[in-house]
Amino acid sequence: MQKFNHNIKKYLNILGINENVSDIVPNLNGENDQDLQTCKKRYIDSSAYLNIKAPYIYCFLSRMSVCYTYAIDTMAVDDKGNIYINPKFGARDITAREFLGVLIHETFHILNLTFPRRGKKNPKIWNIATDFIMNRDILADGYELPKMGCIPVNNIVTIPTIIDPATGLPFTCNIENKSAEYLYDEIMRCLKDQDQGKDEDDTVNVGDVIYDTVSRKYGVVTSIDAKGNVHSKEITEAEIDKHLK
Ligand SMILES: [Zn+2]
Repeated sequence: MQKFNHNIKKYLNILGINENVSDIVPNLNGENDQDLQTCKKRYIDSSAYLNIKAPYIYCFLSRMSVCYTYAIDTMAVDDKGNIYINPKFGARDITAREFLGVLIHETFHILNLTFPRRGKKNPKIWNIATDFIMNRDILADGYELPKMGCIPVNNIVTIPTIIDPATGLPFTCNIENKSAEYLYDEIMRCLKDQDQGKDEDDTVNVGDVIYDTVSRKYGVVTSIDAKGNVHSKEITEAEIDKHLK
């Protein structure tokens, strides 16, 4: 046990988590704030529970500092290991069991090295990918999480707002035994294709020279109707220069 604790301390030191420097100044309604008191009690109860049931999580959590603040909407963690908790969210928007689940989620961001693993990835998409993977494991361990957020159902991730160009259907991905890197790459593949499609559509104007990949013929755009259909007049390869501005 001594050795285990020592290793974790070393690990936290490498991450700079012993600094406990908070970027967000506590922004509270005073010590009489009932939600704040409920949150503090839920935090102590959750810590005590993890100390007995999941000591490896508790080892990390106990070395992270907590900042109660209304400056953020829900619960968050930074790369220095500070956990931020909005008292209203922690006390009223979620249950005590969900509070425990979200607290584990924030600890997992540090335990799973999600900040150093991010590298040059898109931060928003990387956060979504890591949230889904960590929540999969938290739910598999029998903990509860709020219904909103990145919750996989039976190891399936569904993101209705992203269309998979391979299927033309909303994005779905089986994340059983998969890493956050895998899910990130899958989401980015769909976003990349969607962005490219949009760019191509946006750049077509009257007078542009276009190439029809089906008929393999060149054309110059004569009009674009209200539905976005492009009408063109066929031109030969030799005539292209004449039409380019
Ligand atoms: Zn998260």
